[in-house]
Amino acid sequence: DFVDFVKFFDRIINRFEMSKSKEVEFIRELPTTPIYVEIDTDKITQVIDNIISNALKYSPDGGSIRFKLTNIDDEILVEIKDTGMGIPKENVDRIFDRFYRVDKARARSMGGTGLGLAISREMINAHGGRIWAESVEGKGTSVFFTLPNNAEEDGEWE
Ligand code: ATP
Ligand code: MG
Repeated sequence: DFVDFVKFFDRIINRFEMSKSKEVEFIRELPTTPIYVEIDTDKITQVIDNIISNALKYSPDGGSIRFKLTNIDDEILVEIKDTGMGIPKENVDRIFDRFYRVDKARARSMGGTGLGLAISREMINAHGGRIWAESVEGKGTSVFFTLPNNAEEDGEWE
C-alpha cells in the first residue's frame, strides 16, 4: 500500500490515546508535511501496536510516551519513547528474541507471550528496515525503527 506515513502513524496513536486506561500523556513530534511510503499497512500496524502496547504496559500512571517521526535521506525513522521501568542494559538486545521477557515474575503478572517484538523485528526486516531499543533501567525505554522511503526514486511519482 502507498500511504502518507504521517497520517497513518497519527491515526494509530489516536486509537491508543482514546482507549488508554492509564494516565499517560501522549506527546507527538510529527512532520507537518506528508511522507509517502510503500508498506504493508496491516503488518506495520501490528508492529506499532505492539510497541505502543509495551510502552503503556510498562509505564506507571503519570508517565508519558513521546512519538517522533523524522525523514532522513531515503529512510523514515520512528521513535517511541516511554518513561517506564526500563530494561537492564545487558538485556536490551534480547527483547527481540522469541519468548524472551526481562523478568519472569514481572512478566507473568503482566500477561503476554514474549513474541511481540520478535514478530515486529521479522516484519521490519521484511520491509528492509531495522528495529532496535535503547533503555535506562528505572528511567525508560526508546524503541526505534526505520523503513526505506523510496518514493522519490519511483518514476511514476516524479
Ligand atoms: P506480547 O507482546 O507477546 O504480548 P510481551 O509484551 O511480553 O508479550 P514483547 O513485546 O516481545 O513481549 O517484549 C519482550 C519483553 O521486553 C517484555 O516482556 C518486557 O520484559 C520487555 N519490554 C518490551 N518493551 C518494553 C518497554 N517499553 N519497557 C520495559 N520493558 C519492555
Ligand atoms: Mg509486547
